[in-house]
Amino acid sequence: MEEKVFIALGSNEGDRELNLLRAVAEIGRLAGTRITALSHFYDTEPVGPVPQGNFLNAVARLETSLDPHGLLAALQRIETEVFRRKRTVHWGPRIMDLDILFYGDLHISGDDLVVPHPRLHERRFVLEPLAELAPDLLHPLLGKKMRELLDGLGGTGKVVRIQEAVS
Ligand code: ADP
Ligand code: MG
Repeated sequence: MEEKVFIALGSNEGDRELNLLRAVAEIGRLAGTRITALSHFYDTEPVGPVPQGNFLNAVARLETSLDPHGLLAALQRIETEVFRRKRTVHWGPRIMDLDILFYGDLHISGDDLVVPHPRLHERRFVLEPLAELAPDLLHPLLGKKMRELLDGLGGTGKVVRIQEAVS
C-alpha cells in the first residue's frame, strides 16, 4: 500500500542547493516511490551545541511502497553512497541529512527508527517547510496541526525562506 510520507532534507556543507536538488532526484528514483510535493528551500541557523554554518532545509512529500525500515535504509544509502557522508560528530555539519518525519499515521518506536520524528515539533527548520506543504496535517500523537505547532514555537533559530530566482 502506498503511504503519505514526509521527509526532512538538510545540508550545510558544499553546494547546499545542489545537494538538496540531488537528494530529491535520488529519492524520486527509489523503487515504488514518487515525490508528490516539495517545499521551498529555507536558510536556517544551526541548532545545538556545535558551531557550524547555516543549513539549507526542505521537506518533501512522497508516496512509496517501501516499508518504513526499507525507506530508512534507502535514505541512509543516499546519505553515505551518493553524498559520501561520514557519520562523525553527532549534531555536527553534514552534507546531507534525510529524516523520516511521518509515515502515514504510523507510530514506530524502535532503536533505529522513531516515527513521528521525536523532535520535529520543536524545530522551526522542520515546521516551516512542513507547514508550507501541510498546514492542516494533524500530528497523530500531539493532536495539533502543523500550523499550530509552528505558531506555538518560541524563538528557536532563525529560518528564512529562499525566493525563487525566476519569477
Ligand atoms: P540526526 O538525529 O541529527 O538526524 P543522524 O542523521 O546521524 O542524526 O541519525 C542518527 C540515527 O537516527 C540514525 O542512525 C537512524 O537510525 C536514527 N533515526 C531514528 N528515527 C529516525 C527517523 N525518523 N528518520 C531518520 N533517522 C532516524
Ligand atoms: Mg538524520
